[in-house]
Amino acid sequence: MTLYHNYIGGKWQPAHNGQTFPNYNPASGELLGDFPLSDQHDVDAAVSAARGAFAHWRRVPAPKRGELLFRVGELMKQHKEELARTMTREMGKVLKETRGDVQEGIDMAYYMGGEGRRLFGYSVPVELSDKSALAMRDPVGVVACITPWNFPIAIPTWKMFPALVAGNTLVLKPAEDTPLSALRLVELLYEAGLPEGVVNLVFGPGQPTGEALIHHPDVAVISFTGSTDTGRHVAIEAAHSLKRVSLEMGGKNAVIVMDDADLDLAVEGILWSSYGTTGQRCTACSRVIAHRAIHERLLEKLVPRIEALRLGNGLDEQVDVGPIINAKQLEKVHRYSELGKSEGATLVTGGESAREGELARGYFYRPTLFCDVRPAMRIAQEEIFGPTLSVIAVDTLDEAITVNNQTRYGLSSALYTQDVNRVQRAMRDLTTGIIYINSGTTGAEIQFPFGGTRGTGNGHREAGLAGLDVFTEWKVVYTDFSGKLQKAQIDS
Ligand code: ADP
Repeated sequence: MTLYHNYIGGKWQPAHNGQTFPNYNPASGELLGDFPLSDQHDVDAAVSAARGAFAHWRRVPAPKRGELLFRVGELMKQHKEELARTMTREMGKVLKETRGDVQEGIDMAYYMGGEGRRLFGYSVPVELSDKSALAMRDPVGVVACITPWNFPIAIPTWKMFPALVAGNTLVLKPAEDTPLSALRLVELLYEAGLPEGVVNLVFGPGQPTGEALIHHPDVAVISFTGSTDTGRHVAIEAAHSLKRVSLEMGGKNAVIVMDDADLDLAVEGILWSSYGTTGQRCTACSRVIAHRAIHERLLEKLVPRIEALRLGNGLDEQVDVGPIINAKQLEKVHRYSELGKSEGATLVTGGESAREGELARGYFYRPTLFCDVRPAMRIAQEEIFGPTLSVIAVDTLDEAITVNNQTRYGLSSALYTQDVNRVQRAMRDLTTGIIYINSGTTGAEIQFPFGGTRGTGNGHREAGLAGLDVFTEWKVVYTDFSGKLQKAQIDS
């Protein structure tokens, strides 16, 4: 059995108090190792190392910081299969998806590596003669990256790579269910030549580890992805010290299927968006809003496909759907099945744990479908984060858009139609941060801003150029070369 350590200031070290927590494979119950249960003392050491390294790292030329990220991308490519297998073992999703998760990290390494030679500021004409001005980006300082378990490599890279190329140093606290993937990623950063102390890794749960990090006075930015309840708590706590906070939280994403849609295409999109990653994506589709004219036909096509999905250990290439992450989440998913029935929705398939054979060793749940769902039901409003889909029937596109928009979340939505006018209306009126036309609710590309409205976020975006805004401070420099006092233009 392996005992892993934190990585602080370039050294592997156990938690100061000697405590550990176990990491299990959710498909088999296998113990993968023990990790430090870090407290305030360890977090202080990690933040202090990051703070110490900032003085140097902020002055490394950005193109050099970018080159380091290119090397990280190369190493991730070389180790892609091994990283994917590690991730499947500790998180459960199938290999195809964990390879995709690593690929997203590789893409982000190259994208942000390129930013090392851009990091665009701007200069525009000024009002006074013999004077120039430019706006440039400065790093902010020490960043706390607090990440969830559903994208154990991709999400840390979405936070760390833009933070690093912009010249910040950081502390990563990964989710307690997926510490090993984060550890491998940090090892590769150092193999690529990162100076000690620039990235520090502390393991542990929200309490006490995450709490110590969000309250630390030397943490300047918190970049958080997780549940809306935790995100709100992080924002409230961080407000006391005016920390900058970027939050990526829940979703209640919908696929709208109109009466003119290619139904076979829609079925593929719905299957993938709803049951891929066992429904445990913030962009997972958990509502289908179907035009009444095709509602029955859609169900006829969809239900046998759901029932044919193969559950099992994600390391088996034949498997479509892996386990749920842990026992607590499995119970939550089942509670929503019971709730759906008690609210009057019709359970079409699923609604129970899968326990036959090998499945009994893990946290498996049957892909679940409810129909006769009304938009206000809790199963249609609350984030379940599991393989549970609700079908809502509507009569018009306007009604579909209203139903789509009326939840506390606003991450992604999708529309299946062949009608260009409907597409344009949907683009104008859907209020989510991401919209897909004729594909499911997942599939964001890293060169575009990622995030959502309402309870999904707090106005920031990750990825793309927008992803740099969280990790940079604008600084404007005015240079007067007239040799005389020129007052501000408003005083002249
Ligand atoms: P989930 O329910 O999906 O695990 P959470 O929002 O609880 O989502 O967790 C997301 C990340 O936030 C994890 O790394 C978790 O340890 C961390 N976290 C949880 N609670 C807190 C907290 N009070 N302060 C800081 N981080 C926290």
